[in-house]
Amino acid sequence: MKLHEFQAKDIFRRSRIPVPDGQLVTNVDQVIEVAKNLNGPPWVVKAQVHAGGRGKGGGVKVVKTTEEIKSAVDTMLGKQLVTKQTGSQGVTVHQVLIEEGVNIDKEYYLGMVVDRSIFMPTMIFSQAGGMDIEEVAAETPDLIFKEPVSPITGWLPNNARNLIYRLDPLPEPPVIKALLAVMANLYKAFISNDCSLVEINPLVITKEGQVLAVDAKITIDDTASFRQKDLMKLDDPREKDPLELKAEENDLNYIRLDGNIGAMVNGAGLAMATMDVIKSAGAEPANFLDVGGGANEEMISKGFEIILQDSRVKAVLINIFGGILRCDVLARGVLAAAKKNSIEVPLIVRLEGTNVDEGRKILEESDLKFLVAKDLAEAAELVAKQVS
Ligand code: ADP
Ligand code: MG
Repeated sequence: MKLHEFQAKDIFRRSRIPVPDGQLVTNVDQVIEVAKNLNGPPWVVKAQVHAGGRGKGGGVKVVKTTEEIKSAVDTMLGKQLVTKQTGSQGVTVHQVLIEEGVNIDKEYYLGMVVDRSIFMPTMIFSQAGGMDIEEVAAETPDLIFKEPVSPITGWLPNNARNLIYRLDPLPEPPVIKALLAVMANLYKAFISNDCSLVEINPLVITKEGQVLAVDAKITIDDTASFRQKDLMKLDDPREKDPLELKAEENDLNYIRLDGNIGAMVNGAGLAMATMDVIKSAGAEPANFLDVGGGANEEMISKGFEIILQDSRVKAVLINIFGGILRCDVLARGVLAAAKKNSIEVPLIVRLEGTNVDEGRKILEESDLKFLVAKDLAEAAELVAKQVS
């Protein structure tokens, strides 16, 4: 689950990671009151959307008068914001953060993720922070420092020293002290909130020598939702793809991709393999959809409906290995969804496993037109042929 910048900054405040003062507005009329309570000029007006690259896309504006705050808020609220991370249609801005402008001397990058290749939370630090960090990582990876942290010992002072003493030039001692504290607090916040990602870009050193998190991005690990009930209340469904949202409501594992072959599969491993086979047959999957081992008729039907509602889909491949999910249950789910939606694209089905004969019979006796493949390779070829 992704958080908005203002939500992430609230967590930072509680975790003693310093951030600029700011307030959220959802309406232009709130601006005058809010501006009174914030140091400025300058102020910074920031669109709150689950996408980065706002600075370069017009979603972050530095302004000098209250009138300018108003007009900046007015041009953002309710409008589409297009950034490198949103796709060309952009995302709607529902909320705007107004912040005091800080006097930036240096922009660093500080982040934390779980490095799955070594099974350790890893802090990432760079003095080349700011809006072009992706380019820095691609072109000059030596400027990005990484520090894995043993989950047994937790964050230790030498972890921080390993990162900070590689800075050139080395900051003044008070700045080093502040960085040490921010890093230790970031590690604590990362662990205690079950984050899968925390990113501060930029972490600013101000001309006055303060260290401040000027941007904030947090992703909470969904598998920890059972023990992070308060954090889960911060979820903002408006930011999600409507089909992904529908899938989530039905406990389906669904991710939209760029291609035009819809795929419905049971089991994440089989779903990955199916995507690979679709690609190697020369086509591109439109989604990842794992209906799960224990899916019932209703879930199958909802999953199939989600695929059919995606207007880019030109053919659908159903690849089910019947185990706990029996093939006859699958077949009934598909028929139920077919009754509700008109199906205008070719359906390719590959069924194997528990009750496979019964499943095939149900499909054959229906008035649905579909192509049956005997194995996965043939299924993928049939699919690719439909769209070539
Ligand atoms: P994004 O990463 O989406 O582009 P940021 O929050 O990083 O958005 O803002 C982009 C840039 O705007 C920052 O790198 C920083 O230079 C400037 N900026 C953002 N917030 C402030 C602020 N409160 N005071 C001064 N400058 C800011
Ligand atoms: Mg940023």
